This record gives sequence, structure tokens and C-alpha cells, in this order.
Amino acid sequence: MDIETYGGRCPCCEKPMLQKGDDSTHGFHFDACPHCGFACGESNNETMDAAPIWGAVLDHHGVADLPALRAYVASLEPDDTFWPSVMDYAGKDRDALKARCLPHASLAEA
Ligand SMILES: [Zn+2]
Repeated sequence: MDIETYGGRCPCCEKPMLQKGDDSTHGFHFDACPHCGFACGESNNETMDAAPIWGAVLDHHGVADLPALRAYVASLEPDDTFWPSVMDYAGKDRDALKARCLPHASLAEA
């Protein structure tokens, strides 16, 4: 089952993230923060770079870049009852997490 939600807490900026969980574990699932551009996810058990995650998320929402996505999520009510985060950031180095931020992500870059 796939659900995309807006909630949880970005490990970089602590704002709500778009999240997609997948309890079949081998599907595409991610945390993606439209505020700072952080994205972390997996597909078929392989860790994905931020750029292809943003490509998929922006395409899914039919927007070209992060500012457009931020305008969209501003209309949503954050709900963090699903997942604090989809991926596990416990013990992760903060600089390594920051390296996953693509604040200017757009479909053109993906
Ligand atoms: Zn963030």
C-alpha cells in the first residue's frame, strides 16, 4: 500500500516533509522536504540520490521546481501521525544529511 503524506520532521530543517511509505519494503518510498530540498529514499532496496527523488516527486505533483511545490504544500495541513520519518536518520551525520539537500531542485536538473 502506498500513501503520500505531508508531515513528520525534516532531519535538516525540522519542517514537515512530503513522505511516501510503502509497507512492501521493495517499492519506492521517501522523505522529501520542500523547504530545504532534503530528500532521502529507496527504490527496490537501493538508496536513491536526492535528484531522482525530486524528479519523481515534482513530476507526480505536476510542478517544475521546489518553489511551486512549497506553494502547493502551504495549502496542506501537516499530519505527522503516519511516520516521524520514513527513512531512519538515527546516528546519521548531520553534514551527510545536509549533502542530500537540493534547495534548487527542478525537473530540469533531475
Ligand atoms: Zn528540510
